[in-house]
Amino acid sequence: MTPGGTAKRGALRALAAACPALAAFGVTLALTHLATALAAGLAAFGVAALFVLLVESQSTRALEAAAARAAEEERRMLAGRDAVAHAERVLAAALEGIADGVWITDASGAVVRHNAALPRLLELGQDILGKRPLFLVRRGELHEAVLRACSQGVSSVVEVKVEGPRPRVLEVQVSALGGGLPGSTAVFRDVTELKRLERVRQDFVANVSHELRTPIAAILGYAETLQSGALADAAHAPQMVDIIHRQSERLSELVTDLLELSRLDARERPLTIGTVSLGEVVTRATEAMQPRAALKHISVTQHLPVGLAARADAKALEQVLVNLLDNAVKYTADGGTVDLSARQEDARVELSVRDSGVGIEAKHLPRLFERFYRVDRGRSRDMGGTGLGLSIVRHLVSAMGGDVRVQSQLGVGSTFTVVLAAA
Ligand code: ADP
Repeated sequence: MTPGGTAKRGALRALAAACPALAAFGVTLALTHLATALAAGLAAFGVAALFVLLVESQSTRALEAAAARAAEEERRMLAGRDAVAHAERVLAAALEGIADGVWITDASGAVVRHNAALPRLLELGQDILGKRPLFLVRRGELHEAVLRACSQGVSSVVEVKVEGPRPRVLEVQVSALGGGLPGSTAVFRDVTELKRLERVRQDFVANVSHELRTPIAAILGYAETLQSGALADAAHAPQMVDIIHRQSERLSELVTDLLELSRLDARERPLTIGTVSLGEVVTRATEAMQPRAALKHISVTQHLPVGLAARADAKALEQVLVNLLDNAVKYTADGGTVDLSARQEDARVELSVRDSGVGIEAKHLPRLFERFYRVDRGRSRDMGGTGLGLSIVRHLVSAMGGDVRVQSQLGVGSTFTVVLAAA
């Protein structure tokens, strides 16, 4: 063997011995590379995933924010719409809650809105919206008032009369819409009853003045005549003094009746409603009437069952019966008859004063209980009537929760009936 060959074998053996170590080193190296590569790969993947996640979470947040903004926008819009709808409902409810008729017009005067009371008040069956005032209510003043309110902002009040089966007087307040809005409003108020009451009051004052003037004029006239020498006229002076006395009595009666009415009107006369035995009240009233009836040879009779009682104020009921009996005697000719009767009808008691007097024409009956209403003014005055007796009767009876009615036939006689609750 050569030394070179020995060296080679030595080298080979060393290599063979080193081989496992090398192999192990190689595997280790390879594994290390693989791990590095894997680590690198994983790292790269992780970064990418992180990036994706990052990007993803950012865009989600942006989307979510955008969606939230949209939702908020929608909520606001709905809230706005709700507010408009709510305001509309409030306005509609307010308009419908007003008993007066109301319309709202645009700047040209055409009606753009109205409440339900308006067509009822104006008796309009047609469609109102879009129509101008003159078309709906044929009154030039109202049309002009609406145009003035629209163009100049001038407010005015116009009176409108509605003809038809139920004539009415309406007071219309026309104003500019206000709040910087173009257009106008008109409020229609039914003042028919107010006007009627005003007329009644005016008539009443006129009637009172007239009623007072007559006796005052007579008293003044005769007193002056007496003063200027007639007092010495033994033939006529007593007559004049008599007239002055009679007219003073008339004045006193008139003032008493007026005060009574005004006390009743003001409810200053409190009534004590209780169980009233009708026998006693009827007897007192007829007895009070006997002297006057005797002067005219009129017989006053009474018919009522024993023990009848009503819910009433004893004094007020007596006053009512005396008033009715007084009229019966007043408007019945000498020798006639007057009867006061009472009976129970279910839960009611009816007291009737019947006379055989002059009677009343049917056309007068509905107004008979009005103040100062008289069928025959002259006759009533001659009889010493004030024209207030029946209105006092009606007042007292209704204050006792009852009712009074009349039946009459001209030339035959009249029956006045008071209906009260039975006790
Ligand atoms: P007066 O003081 O004039 O009698 P009243 O109010 O008592 O006033 O009556 C009103 C009118 O009713 C009388 O003026 C009269 O014309 C009529 N009247 C009332 N009672 C009777 C009656 N019993 N018979 C006929 N007419 C009557």
